[in-house]
Amino acid sequence: MPADITYLDYNATAPLRPQARTAMMSAMEALAGGGNPSSVHRAGRTARRIVEDARAQVAALALCAPDEVVFTSGGTEANSLAILGTLASGQVKRLIVSAAEHASVLDTATAAMAAGADVSVLPVDANGVADIEALAHDLSSDPRPALVCLMSANNETGVIQPVSKVVGIVKDAGGRVHVDAVQHAGKLPFSDVSLAHTVSLSAHKVGGPQGTGALIVRGKGGVEPQLRGGGQELRRRAGTENVIGIAGFGAAAQVAAEDIATVQALAPLRNAMEARVLASAAAIFAAGGHAAQVIGHAAPRLPNTSCIAFDGVSAETLLMALDLSGVCVSSGSACSSGKVARSHVLDAMGVAPDLARGAIRLSLGWTTTADDIDRFCTSLDQALTVMSSPRTPMRAAGE
Ligand code: PLP
Repeated sequence: MPADITYLDYNATAPLRPQARTAMMSAMEALAGGGNPSSVHRAGRTARRIVEDARAQVAALALCAPDEVVFTSGGTEANSLAILGTLASGQVKRLIVSAAEHASVLDTATAAMAAGADVSVLPVDANGVADIEALAHDLSSDPRPALVCLMSANNETGVIQPVSKVVGIVKDAGGRVHVDAVQHAGKLPFSDVSLAHTVSLSAHKVGGPQGTGALIVRGKGGVEPQLRGGGQELRRRAGTENVIGIAGFGAAAQVAAEDIATVQALAPLRNAMEARVLASAAAIFAAGGHAAQVIGHAAPRLPNTSCIAFDGVSAETLLMALDLSGVCVSSGSACSSGKVARSHVLDAMGVAPDLARGAIRLSLGWTTTADDIDRFCTSLDQALTVMSSPRTPMRAAGE
């Protein structure tokens, strides 16, 4: 990370771990003369060994058997394979997705619905936690087996879901559970997540390269391949494996599994930062009556994530001001096709639109220090002070 950057955006992409870089460099060396992991000759066997070593490392992180790991191009493809592949297997007759899922789950569910699947949305409460009673009611009112998609931890708020309870009631009702554990991996132990039928992982959230991930598939026959034309990944995902990316994923997964305590130890730093931001926002906005809030603070949260919303402030303007000071954070809004949209997660939680438009997400990681937090807080104070001045519009024109 360049010295002039304070990177507080680990949930978007974590920095590449040195061990992942080394593993990828050695894989590149090993493959310099060629080698397809499906070839039987010695060059192919070298590539195969790299993939299988990484598979064992990813399995150790996800507490599963190596042959349950299906390498994909990332978390998005893993979610898509879990949903479309489980529906195609015929083991479930309908789909239930939580309202706060990642877009790769929600948009796949929408596409499945357009193709004729029966889809319902599981609401979340004001803290972003899935409504278990609503789920139990849904499952008991329609006896057809369902695939229930519930992320274990939310990317925007860090809110953790009651996965083991949900797995219990869905299994009792004869359904299947898919858990998007992309943000959970490397931040919390996997214990309850490993009870799900399918689990998504993404390499670049644990310090591996972008463009690689995995779907963990428990048992045989539950997921139909969506890419066909090759026997790779035990016929569950055709296509020559991304050997170099997978090598980096394996190394990152191993360090992430060993390093969970470091991420968990970030909670006090995150909590102190939130207290400081709330106090200074209250002081800066005292006259104007604006308020700041930590979204999802009453629920269990990932130790590294903080979603802070400033009432009546434009998160985009705040982000730009922070960026000018070298501080990288995300906004709680999604930007697509040049249009800033409100976060569907905050909408599902019932956060007031004026507050939601001022939401920023900070996500800390293994390189974050107290100095980084200090620099963020100082830059934020400066930006809020300028934005609170009567002559500065709080919201960008046209928003
Ligand atoms: N699921 C969650 C919760 C995520 O946060 C992300 C990425 O931001 C994804 C899925 C998609 O992963 P990838 O970027 O590897 O496609």
